[in-house]
Amino acid sequence: MLTKEECKAALQKRILALAGTSLDEASAADKYAALASLIRDYIGQRWVDTTRYYDDQKQKQVYYFSIEFLPGRLLDTNLRNLGLREVWCEALAELGIDYTELANAERDAGLGNGGLGRLAACFLDSLASLGLPGHGCGIRYTYGLFEQSIIDGVQVEKPDTWLSDLDIWEYRKAGKAVTVEFGPPLGTVKAVPYDIPVIGFDNRTVNTLRLWSAELRDGLNVNYSSLTPGDIRKLLEYKNWVEAISQILYPDDRYEEGRHLRLVQEYFLVSAGLKSIIRHIKRKQGSNLSYLANQIAIHINDTHPALAIPELMRILMDEEGMGWDEAWDITTHTISYTNHTVLPEALEKWPVDQLRSLLPRIYEIIHEINERFCAELWKRYPGEWDRIAAMAVIADGFVKMAHLAVAGSHSVNGVAELHSRILQDDLLHLFYQHTPQKFNNKTNGITHRRWLLSANPGLAGLITDTIGPAWLQRPTELERLLPFAASTAFQQKLTAVKQDRKEALAKFIFDNYHITLDTHSLFDVQVKRIHAYKRQLLNALRIMELYQRLKADPGLDILPRTFIFAGKAAPGYYLAKKVIQLIVTLSKQINNDPAIQDKLKIVFLENYNVSLAELIIPAADISEQISTAGKEASGTSNMKFMMNGAITIGTLDGANVEIREAVGDENIVIFGLTAEEATACYQTGQCDPMIIYNQDERVRNCVNQLIDGSLPVIGDEFKPLYEYLLHPNGAFLELQDFAAYLDAQAKIDRLFRNKHARWQMAIKNIAHSGRFSSDRTVKEYADAIWHIRPAEIPQR
Ligand SMILES: *Cc1c(COP(=O)(O)O)cnc(C)c1O
Repeated sequence: MLTKEECKAALQKRILALAGTSLDEASAADKYAALASLIRDYIGQRWVDTTRYYDDQKQKQVYYFSIEFLPGRLLDTNLRNLGLREVWCEALAELGIDYTELANAERDAGLGNGGLGRLAACFLDSLASLGLPGHGCGIRYTYGLFEQSIIDGVQVEKPDTWLSDLDIWEYRKAGKAVTVEFGPPLGTVKAVPYDIPVIGFDNRTVNTLRLWSAELRDGLNVNYSSLTPGDIRKLLEYKNWVEAISQILYPDDRYEEGRHLRLVQEYFLVSAGLKSIIRHIKRKQGSNLSYLANQIAIHINDTHPALAIPELMRILMDEEGMGWDEAWDITTHTISYTNHTVLPEALEKWPVDQLRSLLPRIYEIIHEINERFCAELWKRYPGEWDRIAAMAVIADGFVKMAHLAVAGSHSVNGVAELHSRILQDDLLHLFYQHTPQKFNNKTNGITHRRWLLSANPGLAGLITDTIGPAWLQRPTELERLLPFAASTAFQQKLTAVKQDRKEALAKFIFDNYHITLDTHSLFDVQVKRIHAYKRQLLNALRIMELYQRLKADPGLDILPRTFIFAGKAAPGYYLAKKVIQLIVTLSKQINNDPAIQDKLKIVFLENYNVSLAELIIPAADISEQISTAGKEASGTSNMKFMMNGAITIGTLDGANVEIREAVGDENIVIFGLTAEEATACYQTGQCDPMIIYNQDERVRNCVNQLIDGSLPVIGDEFKPLYEYLLHPNGAFLELQDFAAYLDAQAKIDRLFRNKHARWQMAIKNIAHSGRFSSDRTVKEYADAIWHIRPAEIPQR
């Protein structure tokens, strides 16, 4: 085991070697780089051992294909999982180095938009921590999700240059490059893997996240002795095009615009990923691929990697010489698919012409898949043209990626009970009728190691002091906190932990925004991507309502609240940007109004990312999960908040339904239309917002304020929001749920006055959060879909 003294000496030496400077002169970034590079030393052997063990034991392995991974910072996770966090913290303290400052020098690996990429990162952590043979496969974007700042109330985007610090965790494997072939005129591109170790918690497993980068192919066809200007132009075009492939992450969350480069990225990912997997299998286990489905599982995270289906068919047929039927049998038994959304605008479809010209052979295969699939349907449902047209993989000139994913895989899952039911009853109903055995649910989860142990060490320590450390390995053991729910002593300790986190957040906000918060006010938090269906606008409207009431009656008896928002809007999403502007405008108006006597404060924090989430969530009293019922597939921040003792106010949507089941109706505040009621609303058109606008004076007052000059903006800035809210069927039922939301907020106010009851609720939430650990989710995938088993990597 490493000693403190060894750590101290090693760090000084490494700083000298890397930065060429002494410890006193070194910046936080230098110290971070040195420590991270030392961790690389510890990982190497374990990584090799893990890979070798899987190969020797012929372990079935899963490859999780995802166009996004959002791991956040890795230093603390890696130290902790290696069991080196304590010794290093002590060593750093003795050297006079602030560990937090050093760790904060790391830039977030922000290769994802939000929930989808974060889920993939939580799954990798759980796979490794459960000792399961599972790896990630993604794209190494040069620029991650844009950096957001707010200037004059408006979102401004800047490129995220995370790689400028040279990502210390990645290992470039130039020798393992593969080529990816596009149709003419694009031709061949080289894909170079960058491997990032994924370290298991308290075991010897080190799995791999392999991220692909596009590079110029070797051996360009040029005659150097007679380069014409035309040759040079062509070369440059090729170079620019290749570099563009892995340059940027598309910043649209749940919106697919059908951009050409995105299709290129999708094929680049799956072709490179599959080629390297197949090459590895053939090297280690021989050239017969007939049993591929017993050797590997490929999981596609949403439809972005769905071209894995025709690409695997192509490899098995064109390169391995198999016939269609055998290749199809192997492909469909290898691939499984998770659906992440039912929003129509988020469902991927590619114009036939575009796909055919970019990827002629892949299109040919998809065409054949469609022909055979439709023939099968015709046999089963003779004469039912409408049904077959509705299920076809190619229809109306488009390739429908969800249909391709369902037809070409053996398992289709949603990400929460409600969402899976909606898939079966509605979005994919015909597919469910056709192959019900493919459909299942896997409720999402979050890694309790990052979201509790790392993000909230004070709470983790309190829990361990109270019930022992078994919850770290088996998070459902958090239920052993239940007997302490009514304990005043435990409640007081939890109160102190929450207060400490609120003060830390308040300090961050003061340092960065010069806003002073009352840390005894309720921290009422909504942090997530800005999207109409998530209804930040509903939240803003009720703040306007509360503000009006308080203005009218300054003596109004309310618990002081601090409203905290954060989240990025897609750069082209006009309405979402308007919502940000509204929130920032309200903060200017309300924070500076002396009549409010600091009873209300609003902050919009810039550049929401994993690290900011780790700072905000432990400080929250109230978790706002208020999407239109039926629209949020699962949500995962709802789980992070409950695990940190916040009380959820939410709709019966996504995993909120299961959180309510877990904690009981008395420990969550639920309001609003159900998914069925919301659907009925849309279908019957009975929910014309004008009816509510005319009936409810509070609605009218708030909505009118968007256009009547009450808000401190010049001109008609918020008219688009006004029109959106009153459009007969444009909105996400904000006004329909408004009254119920106000009632629910009043209930929260009452609940939080009784401190004993409130902390009891918080403890029950923490105690029941174990089932939302991604360890549970990943175990379910491993057992029921991937059929992989844990490996115990031996000590060498
Ligand atoms: C957890 C997380 C999300 C997902 O939040 P939802 O509220 O479930 O949409 C998005 N972004 C970041 C940075 C996260 O950590």
